[in-house]
Amino acid sequence: MFSFDNTEIAFSDKTNKQLRKAYWMFWMVKSPWIAKTGSWLLTLANHLRFPLNWALKNTVFEHFCGGETLEECHESIEKLGKYNIKAVLDYAAEGRETEKEFDEARDRIIASIELSGNNDNIGFAVFKITGIARFRLLEKINGDYILSDAEKQELARIKARAEQICKKAAEIGVSVMIDAEESWIQNSIDNLVEELMQKYNTTKPVVFHTLQMYRIDKLYYLKKLTSDALEKNYIPGFKIVRGAYMEKERARAMKKGYASPIHPNKASTDAAFDDAVRFCIENIENIAVCIGSHNENSNMEAAFIIDINELDKNHPRIHFSQLKGMSDHISYNLAKEGYNVSKYVPYGPLRLVMPYLIRRAEENTSVAGQTGRELFLIRKELKRRKQKKTS
Ligand SMILES: Cc1cc2nc3c(=O)[nH]c(=O)nc-3n(C[C@H](O)[C@H](O)[C@H](O)COP(=O)(O)OP(=O)(O)OC[C@H]3O[C@@H](n4cnc5c(N)ncnc54)[C@H](O)[C@@H]3O)c2cc1C
Repeated sequence: MFSFDNTEIAFSDKTNKQLRKAYWMFWMVKSPWIAKTGSWLLTLANHLRFPLNWALKNTVFEHFCGGETLEECHESIEKLGKYNIKAVLDYAAEGRETEKEFDEARDRIIASIELSGNNDNIGFAVFKITGIARFRLLEKINGDYILSDAEKQELARIKARAEQICKKAAEIGVSVMIDAEESWIQNSIDNLVEELMQKYNTTKPVVFHTLQMYRIDKLYYLKKLTSDALEKNYIPGFKIVRGAYMEKERARAMKKGYASPIHPNKASTDAAFDDAVRFCIENIENIAVCIGSHNENSNMEAAFIIDINELDKNHPRIHFSQLKGMSDHISYNLAKEGYNVSKYVPYGPLRLVMPYLIRRAEENTSVAGQTGRELFLIRKELKRRKQKKTS
């Protein structure tokens, strides 16, 4: 097989200055104390509408995001395209609450789908249901509460927005991934995504569901939904991830006194993730899959399963994906080997993208091993470049 250690390939589009900046940032988030205090201060500053552009725009924001607008993402899209990596434009504004804001988000998502119709360097489209729906309503539906007439109408508007997005994606021929979120709204999302897949995935996997494999119940759900889809004659698309809300999930379960829906330890999440990927690849004639992970072992394992099943590396139904600013050594080396690779490029007004940035900082802190790896690889590449210059 190949290796993810080739830092020359991994950082081929980064200048020394950019590498040093990335090193500094990962070094900061590696320290739980700095990351927690930083996240807390950012949340507070954001809440108080304290202007943060000066501090963040050329640092964390530039590293993890494409820009504040679609136009500003152009440079990131073209850069990735040069290395055979597709951009997944992700309008990452969060915490929206009004119908006007939800309609605006829908329009932005549709605009990114239209853009991908004209640009081969853009891959999937993506969105979060909470970008087009009120969190509290999703929570109420999840809890099987009876909805008022006004809430029923609100739900109809949410469904209409999701429909408009998926219909546009189907017309343009782009697949659209729907992110997974907190477990106390996820059943509402699951039901909606299942309806959309059944409607739009009859001949092609247009809509992709996201399964968080840190959830104890999701391997069973994957297998059950796959057999339901076979019966109903559609092709389910699955983005397989580990899950981004572990600490929040555990804290809520503890506070409310119910059993945590999350696997008890990292090893069992890892096993469930790899089992899900194996299941998808071994059933690829009925499924499409996107492997969304920064874990080297899981990505290598997926490449190995593709190989032993004698499938093409660039099988049209198998994709790998990472987030901008993270694990370039995986994305760039996979792409160089000929696999289908994409990278989420989040964009949106800095203030609204803040929850996304805080999640990334917390994630990099909670997975200190992975951050240590990023630091090691950047150091290795800077050293390699220095040696090359002097030799
Ligand atoms: C392209 C892409 C799309 C994504 N989309 C989504 C999405 O829609 N929804 C979403 O929630 N997340 C999403 N994520 C984030 C993802 O869920 C993970 O948080 C992140 O990728 C880190 O996991 P990892 O597989 O990269 O690997 P690792 O760094 O190996 O794993 C870290 C993850 O393992 C799990 N974990 C860690 N410790 C434990 C423990 N003690 N017990 C149980 N589990 C543990 C947690 O899920 C943690 O995030 C996405 C990630 C990518 C790359």
